[in-house]
Amino acid sequence: MPATLVISGPLLSVLAFAWAGHLFRYFVMAGTTDLVFYRLLPEWIQKGRRIGSRRASWADFKREALYSIQTTAIFAVIAVFVVWGSRQGFMKLYTDFDSRGAGYFWASLAGIFVFHDFFFYWIHRLMHVPGVYERVHLVHHKSVSPTPWTSFSFHPLESLLESLPVVVYLAVVPMHAKALLLFQFLSMAANIYAHFGQEWTPPWLERVFPFRYVLRSIDHHYHHDRFTGNYGFYFRIWDRIWGTYVQPEKAGLNAKARVSSSSF
Ligand SMILES: [Zn+2]
Ligand SMILES: [Zn+2]
Repeated sequence: MPATLVISGPLLSVLAFAWAGHLFRYFVMAGTTDLVFYRLLPEWIQKGRRIGSRRASWADFKREALYSIQTTAIFAVIAVFVVWGSRQGFMKLYTDFDSRGAGYFWASLAGIFVFHDFFFYWIHRLMHVPGVYERVHLVHHKSVSPTPWTSFSFHPLESLLESLPVVVYLAVVPMHAKALLLFQFLSMAANIYAHFGQEWTPPWLERVFPFRYVLRSIDHHYHHDRFTGNYGFYFRIWDRIWGTYVQPEKAGLNAKARVSSSSF
């Protein structure tokens, strides 16, 4: 059923559609990445790309999947709030494509990535303040060797905080429902890449603009490995501006480490 039809329907259908969509993007996208890059690829290719020497366990997977299911339910409730708010007029999700055109569609999509990343950077730094960290962010940091399954492994409060940048953006900037849907899937792809556990970008890409400013898997992996630095989500811009970027390779974290223990 087209998304635009769903969002004009009963709120219960919106809830069901949104929850199914979030579950799909978690299980299908993370599952496909896991299947292709961890199960189907030969060990020798993986070993050349896998970051660090620690490996996630089956217990990690179970914890991450359970927290992630909880996160998808919270995100679905947030989706209902956004749709309901748009009907009330204080949120700005729209469905009439011609009212703003294609240029606006793509500009609003690009805008949400920059806004989300900036907002997320500061929320993330706030979540590392002692006291907040133990109560909220520790759940995500239990994954010291992240895999695609880590992507939605959040404490419920963190799930709400993670939703906040998108809700604030939609309260200010009109966005077409399909642009929002596209954002959700592209954002999930970036999330899975951040928690990939493997690094496929060649070193020479670091010297090519704009990749120097795009977050790599190894950058976020470093954050999970050392619990500090590299707070961005899509880009390294804010980390570079506020001096929190750490080059993982210079700090001893590499993508060619040998597997040292039994792996998930
Ligand atoms: Zn963190
Ligand atoms: Zn993470």
